[in-house]
Amino acid sequence: MEEWRPVKGWESSYEVSNMGNVRSLDRVVIDKNGVRRSVYGRMLTKSKHTNGYYFVNLCRENSTLMRDVHRLVAEAFLQHDDYKNVVHHKDHNRTNNCVENLQWVTNYENMVESAIYHSSTHDYKDSHNLLGTHKCLDCGKLVRYKSVRCKPCAAKYIQRNYKSHKLTSDEVKDALITNRGNFTQAAKAFGMSDNALRKWCKKYGLPTRSKDWRH
Ligand SMILES: [Zn+2]
Repeated sequence: MEEWRPVKGWESSYEVSNMGNVRSLDRVVIDKNGVRRSVYGRMLTKSKHTNGYYFVNLCRENSTLMRDVHRLVAEAFLQHDDYKNVVHHKDHNRTNNCVENLQWVTNYENMVESAIYHSSTHDYKDSHNLLGTHKCLDCGKLVRYKSVRCKPCAAKYIQRNYKSHKLTSDEVKDALITNRGNFTQAAKAFGMSDNALRKWCKKYGLPTRSKDWRH
């Protein structure tokens, strides 16, 4: 059954459903001539970004804001810790915004998932192949339907791509929280040594001792 909840931050004007639909509520607006007018609620039309995500336009006074539908659903229906701030589609279908398909993850978890699944070299002609004959791009091992890499190769892929990458404070925080303060393990994700990661912590004024990250 479709359940509706208020859109966070727009409680008096919009609702979002557990099935990924968005609607506006009946409301009174003051138009540009200063006249009060009743506006009836309606289902919003979803548009698609070039990256494949659906968005809707939410209006307040004279401004319009584009909001991703999957984030509205997750914010309304799923609890999350602050450090998990990315919404992941479990089935990798960006248009499936049912609440059961969504999950809050960290940036780092999302990077691993992306390395397993997405790739610019992925040949989509193959995606109808359900017989488990998909092979990891890097080692050739059989991987699950629609995957492009096995998990160990995904971790290595991230290391390679992060060698020359400038880390942001959020990425450093994510990796350390995900790995519960284990600097060696967190640093592996970026293909660097634990001391190199400590340097990034110093740069951002973050704790450099494992125990400060453990809770
Ligand atoms: Zn592999």
